[in-house]
Parts: sequence; structure tokens; C-alpha cells
Amino acid sequence: MKKLLVALALGTALLSEAKIEETLSIIKPDAVKEQHIGDIISIFEKNNLQVVAMRMTKLSKKEVEEFYSALKEKPFFPDLVSYMTSGPVVLQVLKGEDAIARNRQIMGATDPKKAAAGTIRALYGKSIDSNAVHGSDSEENARKEIKFFFSESQIYSEQS
Ligand code: ADP
Ligand code: MG
Repeated sequence: MKKLLVALALGTALLSEAKIEETLSIIKPDAVKEQHIGDIISIFEKNNLQVVAMRMTKLSKKEVEEFYSALKEKPFFPDLVSYMTSGPVVLQVLKGEDAIARNRQIMGATDPKKAAAGTIRALYGKSIDSNAVHGSDSEENARKEIKFFFSESQIYSEQS
């Protein structure tokens, strides 16, 4: 009985421990153009999100259409594609405890006007269609989005 209780207590402790996750972040064209790359990365690092992969690139129309394919029926989709291809972006894999949800918190709401004070979108986003950053919204999407842009060998891990 005593052993069972110890095992249960240990199991609960392990379950409640925060998970180390990886998430995809994109610093979008407006924020790159306005030279906020450093400001934004500094916010990630101050919040214990470690950059484990990073690349600057100009996305093609095809890449953006595929990346945002879940939104292709939305009326704003053509504008989203032209905005995301309008200039270079910075792609990053961020790693840390509860990285997916925490990055979403640090980013703030999709519409910068509704984003909490101090969040990246409140600080650097201009409007709902020009909102400084992207961040994965679930474990499944984080896995897919990271794989879309990075191979395993491009992501730093202590084992490699
Ligand atoms: P988030 O980026 O917060 O996850 P969504 O996944 O819903 O938001 O949308 C993806 C991107 O599409 C947003 O970041 C924004 O750039 C654009 N977008 C979303 N909703 C709108 C809208 N109503 N009007 C214009 N652009 C939008
Ligand atoms: Mg989204």
C-alpha cells in the first residue's frame, strides 16, 4: 500500500512537470524591415526560450500557400500571402518549458490592438495583417511547421 502511494505521488509529480517543447517562430517581413530582429530575439531569450535553429530567407508564394494552407478559404488569404512574401523573414526553432503555449503568450493576440501590454505584437505589430511574428499553436502544428523549414541536423540538440 505504502509503495503504491509513493508510486502514485511520483507519477503525479512527473505528470505535473512542465514539458520541454520546440516551437516554430517566424519574425515576419514588417518586423524585419523595421529592424526589430534583435529586440524580438532578446524577448525570447529573456523568457527562457532558447534559439536552437535560425535562418533568414525570403519565402516564395508556393511556400506561404502551403504553410498557411489551413487558412486558404479565408477572405484575407491573398493579402496574407502577398504580405508574407513582401520581404525577408527570420525562421527560428525555440526550445523551452511549455515553449508552444509560452511563445503564444509572449507574442500576444493576433490583433496587436487586442494584444496585452508588453507582448511582441503589442510592441511591434502594426495591424492584424501585419503583426510581427508567427508562432505554432499546438504540438501537432509545431512538429509539422518545424519539419516544413528545418531538417533534424539543422536543429541544435545536446545529443548532436
Ligand atoms: P495567429 O498568427 O495568431 O496564429 P491565425 O493563425 O488565425 O493567427 O492567422 C494567421 C495569420 O493570418 C495572422 O497572424 C495574420 O497575419 C493573418 N490574419 C488572421 N486573421 C486575419 C484577419 N481577420 N484579417 C487579416 N489578416 C488576418
Ligand atoms: Mg496560427
